[in-house]
Amino acid sequence: MKRLFLIALLSAAALTSFATVPHRSKVPDIPGYITLKGDFHIHTNFSDGHVWPVTRVDEADYDGLDFIAITDHIETHHQHMIKDFGANATRNSAYEMAAKQAKKYGIMVIHGAELTRGARLFPGHFNTHFITDGDAVNQVAEAHNGKYGDDEVKQEEAAIISGLTEAKKQGAFVTWNHPDWEQQAPNETKWWPIHTQLLNKGLIDGIEIYNSFIGYDPEAFHWAIEKDLTITTGTDAHKPMFQWVDYEKGEYRPMTLVFAKERSLNGIREALDEHRTVALAEGCVYGKEEWIKPLLEACVEISGIKFSEKKMTCKVRNLSTIPIKLAKAPGSEQVVYARGVNLNENEEISFSVNGIDSRKPWNTYEFDINFYVTNWLTDADTPLKISYHVSVPAKYRKN
Ligand code: ZN
Repeated sequence: MKRLFLIALLSAAALTSFATVPHRSKVPDIPGYITLKGDFHIHTNFSDGHVWPVTRVDEADYDGLDFIAITDHIETHHQHMIKDFGANATRNSAYEMAAKQAKKYGIMVIHGAELTRGARLFPGHFNTHFITDGDAVNQVAEAHNGKYGDDEVKQEEAAIISGLTEAKKQGAFVTWNHPDWEQQAPNETKWWPIHTQLLNKGLIDGIEIYNSFIGYDPEAFHWAIEKDLTITTGTDAHKPMFQWVDYEKGEYRPMTLVFAKERSLNGIREALDEHRTVALAEGCVYGKEEWIKPLLEACVEISGIKFSEKKMTCKVRNLSTIPIKLAKAPGSEQVVYARGVNLNENEEISFSVNGIDSRKPWNTYEFDINFYVTNWLTDADTPLKISYHVSVPAKYRKN
């Protein structure tokens, strides 16, 4: 009986700790910049989401995010709150409610909206961030309704161009969302002529390369690198976050890391304009080498380096909650070390290197330890390569 009681007590404690202890990811700053963590794509019950804006802020606090963007669908048929509450609800209400709640936590909220057109697969879905009036964006886009007879494509392209142009007038930063969504891209992910047109008009600034509905989009990631677009990711959460992220399994919500000069909305915006972002999702990092390399260096701490005539040993610690998976890369044939190393979140491991024959002294005194970081990509299917140069101290050199 006593034992049963103890078990019951322990499970209650476990449940309580799961429910109340925030599940916060740990990502270090990089030299010269503060690393801000956020979600650029979130829905609420003001469009087709299932939860209130205030709950989105509570969820962000639980996940330890610095910012979120409220990006409810802007189209009239999605305006359930306006239908129910009339003039008391607008396309800006969800943002206003979230922003008020966010002040309590010191979380930043970006005023956004998702603008969608695409009966014939494209142009697709676009997030407009940093707008000031969602109703005005929608009004301009919907003004094209019924103007072009049967030419639906013409109507939708005209609507998207004017809607995004209005958003830009308000100061928006625009991203093309989930280009690989099967409704938009049933057979392959394509960059259509309308996207070139939007890009040339300055109406696409960034691209969503990971979305929780669809997962990682290698084509979008490649376009981000090739066309120098800002990388973003978002949950696109409609249901409560715990139904998207398996917290019990230790999962983290996908997030965009923004390398900002200051912790403010202006700081986020400046970093977006300068493409200083990295996507973090499902334990993988996606970004330009320029940004993921310093991030990796900030995540790894090497200590306790010891040499002998035959061996070098050290401790390697992962200072973050991002896993680091290493696979030996070419260029270090004169020495032997582990071909595969997994450095899990917050983990410390021992690492050793010896010469070709571990029983004999070093056969080389200068060498590189080369690894591919297989879950940190600098382009679609291109892992980050890292290299540490080692010079064996004179006292351990045989000659
Ligand atoms: Zn969405």
